[in-house]
Amino acid sequence: MRSTRRCSRTACPRAAGSTLTYVYGDQTAVLGPLATFAEPHSYDLCADHADTLSAPRGWEVVRLAPDPAAAGPSGDDLLALADAVREAACPPPAAADVTGRGVEVGRRGHLRVLRSQPD
Ligand SMILES: [Zn+2]
Repeated sequence: MRSTRRCSRTACPRAAGSTLTYVYGDQTAVLGPLATFAEPHSYDLCADHADTLSAPRGWEVVRLAPDPAAAGPSGDDLLALADAVREAACPPPAAADVTGRGVEVGRRGHLRVLRSQPD
């Protein structure tokens, strides 16, 4: 369970939905999904204040997708990552197949690569 964070603007009672982070070195303000952890130079903003955000003169504002799910990796990316992690493990862990059809040695998307068990 995560606690509800408030907008950091003075006297604003609304719940924060975004986190604004100032990257001073690049003169960039990054507005993204609510950060899991509070970081230095970051401010939580409600939807209204995020919409009306204006950066200091000369600064660039980068707006990331407000929905963490939309900003995150897609399902395909996650599958590819899982495959990469599996292939990095040597030897790959073989899951015993209780149905007797063989030992699962790999997986590509919805396809499974099976190897018959030796007698
Ligand atoms: Zn606000």
